[in-house]
Amino acid sequence: MPTDTLPPWLDHQAIDKALGRESAPDNAELRDILDKSLALESLSIQEAAALMRVSDPEHLVLLMNTADQVKQKVYGDRIVLSAPLHISNYCGSECLYCANRRGNTTVARKYMTPPEMREAGRKLIRQGHKRVILVSGQLPNAEVEYLEEAVSVLYTVFDGMGEIRRVNVNVGPLKPEEYAILQAADVGTVLIYQDTYHEASYRAAHVSGPKSDYLGRLHAPDTAFQAGVGDVGLGLLLGLGPWQYDLLAVMLHAAHLTRVYDAGSRTVSMHRLRPVPGGGFEVPYPLSDGEYLRCVAIARLAVPYTGIVLTTKEPAGLWRDGCNVGCSQLLTGSVANPYESWNEAPGEKIPFPIGEDCHVDEVVRFLLEEARHLPSFCTACPRLGRSGPEFLSMVQECGMKSQCGPNSIASFMEFLLNYATPYTRQMGEKLISEKLDGLPGPERGAAERLLQKVRSGRMDEFI
Ligand code: SF4
Repeated sequence: MPTDTLPPWLDHQAIDKALGRESAPDNAELRDILDKSLALESLSIQEAAALMRVSDPEHLVLLMNTADQVKQKVYGDRIVLSAPLHISNYCGSECLYCANRRGNTTVARKYMTPPEMREAGRKLIRQGHKRVILVSGQLPNAEVEYLEEAVSVLYTVFDGMGEIRRVNVNVGPLKPEEYAILQAADVGTVLIYQDTYHEASYRAAHVSGPKSDYLGRLHAPDTAFQAGVGDVGLGLLLGLGPWQYDLLAVMLHAAHLTRVYDAGSRTVSMHRLRPVPGGGFEVPYPLSDGEYLRCVAIARLAVPYTGIVLTTKEPAGLWRDGCNVGCSQLLTGSVANPYESWNEAPGEKIPFPIGEDCHVDEVVRFLLEEARHLPSFCTACPRLGRSGPEFLSMVQECGMKSQCGPNSIASFMEFLLNYATPYTRQMGEKLISEKLDGLPGPERGAAERLLQKVRSGRMDEFI
């Protein structure tokens, strides 16, 4: 497929037409759409657009509750936790909203060295993390070898009883052979955020450098799959373009990936644009908290099998509300500050901005307060080599609960025994015992067998 033309799946006219209707769905139409989601079928963009027009407060509550039910059906109570790790903030692009942009002279620049990566990895492991997402700026020459080295360094860091078991990378467009290098290094999901699919908004915010190539970025997930990458994740930076447009566009993108590669998008990350040091950039299409939650809920209803990823950069109450309307993964705990030394950069510039600076124990405790979300550190799928089409068909055929329920409980117990504060451990053990009571016999048996092994000191147990 040529990469210098608009891909056929991104049908701007169809999106505009779907968003052009004005009337809210009536009872029957709303019920039909929600029933389709409950049957775990993907929605059309017309149906998702209808959900955007829901205005009746009772209908809105129904929409949110149904999103939660869909999430429960596919993922159960699990919220998977991952830590972003910013390894470099050098960047060749000028994206007006980003602190890393080439022209921002108020931040100190840094490449993390392998010993620093090792130390950062240890700090994350000491919090209990098992999953890391590598984040860096986008350089004219992508320096894939640097990323490859970071992946291998992190896979070889151990601290006490723990290690990093899955390393995902957040990258832009690469050459096929570069994606292949990452795949050979055993990366988990390759995350390629489009940020906004709205072409005028994209071009206005990305003024120069590699990321200003709107079309190149749209085609990058295809290149990644064709190069043999197992899992690709998509992402939005909400507020950069109209959220309604971006949500429908990312649905079309995910549908295209499912159609062509049988794998779909493993995740859709949904982060809101936030002010950054050296900023001065006005969010072009700001979303209220209510709109943000509705956007998350509609995404869950529209692409039921896709992981929906939020960040604890959002206010605590809001990301927890997000977990109640369809979010299945949280980014958090970037800092055990791996960048202490970055703060000593010469010239008293503002240190590299770090985002998700909650300690994972605080996040877990906050999730446990509602006694319904089960924090998960599970990495069974990558350990078993399940990715892409194999992962999707497993989820579609039997849902994620039968294996993932017991595996998540075991991974959570591993966290509680080795990393949690006493209070969190007490709350967590209580929750596990309640969740066991709610499991069907075979799953309960499997979970109890795994728990027995973890309690006896065995780690990384899964089925
Ligand atoms: S390419 Fe990424 S890191 Fe660089 S300025 Fe743009 S958004 Fe920031």
